[in-house]
Amino acid sequence: MGMQWLLVCHGLITLLVVISFLCGQWPIFQGTFVERIHYFLTFGAYDYFQRLVGAVFGSKGTNFILSIEYFCCDRPNPILQILYVAIIGGIYYMIANSCFSYMPGYYLSGAHRYISLMGVVVGILFFILTSFSDPGIVKAENVLQYLNAYPYDEVLYKEKECTTCKIPKPARSKHCSICNRCVARFDHHCGWMNNCIGERNNRYFLGFLLWHLLLCLYGSVAVALVLAGRLKELRVVYILTVYYGIENTFRDLAPHVVQWLLRSYNTQILLMIFLAIVSLLLAGFFGYHVNLCLTNTTTNETFKWQEHLTWQKKLNEARASAAALKASISDLRTEAKPPESKWRAFFRKSPLEDAVEAIAKQNTYNKGCFSNLGEVIFPFSSRPSFSQTKTKAG
Ligand SMILES: [Zn+2]
Ligand SMILES: [Zn+2]
Repeated sequence: MGMQWLLVCHGLITLLVVISFLCGQWPIFQGTFVERIHYFLTFGAYDYFQRLVGAVFGSKGTNFILSIEYFCCDRPNPILQILYVAIIGGIYYMIANSCFSYMPGYYLSGAHRYISLMGVVVGILFFILTSFSDPGIVKAENVLQYLNAYPYDEVLYKEKECTTCKIPKPARSKHCSICNRCVARFDHHCGWMNNCIGERNNRYFLGFLLWHLLLCLYGSVAVALVLAGRLKELRVVYILTVYYGIENTFRDLAPHVVQWLLRSYNTQILLMIFLAIVSLLLAGFFGYHVNLCLTNTTTNETFKWQEHLTWQKKLNEARASAAALKASISDLRTEAKPPESKWRAFFRKSPLEDAVEAIAKQNTYNKGCFSNLGEVIFPFSSRPSFSQTKTKAG
């Protein structure tokens, strides 16, 4: 019985780690040995599989695989949504099955049976809210308002028209190729939600992340308290010290207690570790999005900024080399600069800090922490001033 749970948990952890890793670093095509192995495991193996099917079944087989790929990756589809419900339902079932019989216990009251159910229900509600809410679709009817709400900054966004929707493209919007629509203040297309994350549903998305982070932390602590309660109720420490003559110190008792727990409660321990790992992943992801929210940037814009800064750096280098050439020709008497002191070199900013500072200086949408947060929680399009814009413009 325990072995089955172990396999299920191991499978889920691997899946989650692989997914988070894939989401974190997509463009891995060349690089170190490890990166190439990673490439083979993700894209390369798929490529070989496709060729094999082509060789065995001909073009019919290849077309079949391509149509599956089209359905899974290039069009909206509910596969990951179903997987989410299966994961949260499965984990809740496993916890109910393995821990509810010990509630009420020494540390946890019986109310936690219902509190945990409420937690899961609210989590699913957040999921439904994010999945099926309007991300801020830009249409002919509201494009004027969006153009007014998000002026072009002339750095990342210049006046442009969406070639597919045939309407002007407001600053910070993007045409989602999967959903085939323009979305205001576009963050990213979320496969788990089967929806874009944009101006109007970013708040629900943040709520979803925070709630699931708290839920996983609560789950892992609750399972730990169930085990601690069992330890107390069965008087394990007393039995170990009195009947087995083990000294009553933490160092002597710990290995025996751990051994006893692993033998009797392996399902609960695996659940606890799994929830702790998911909490860590969620904490990282939530922290990243809170930082984006407070600096008034989107995931989409971080890529744009990277591109822009690389371009700017190249331009500056070209300018500097041109200036150096000019100086060497016109002014040969100029004395060489004194070398940089060791201390100054030590305290000089890293390129990453430079980039963060440069973005903060150039991002005209950044209006200060509170205002930025307000923009996410109360999107422009939900404010009364937004709908009045049209009458002003017309
Ligand atoms: Zn469009
Ligand atoms: Zn989308």
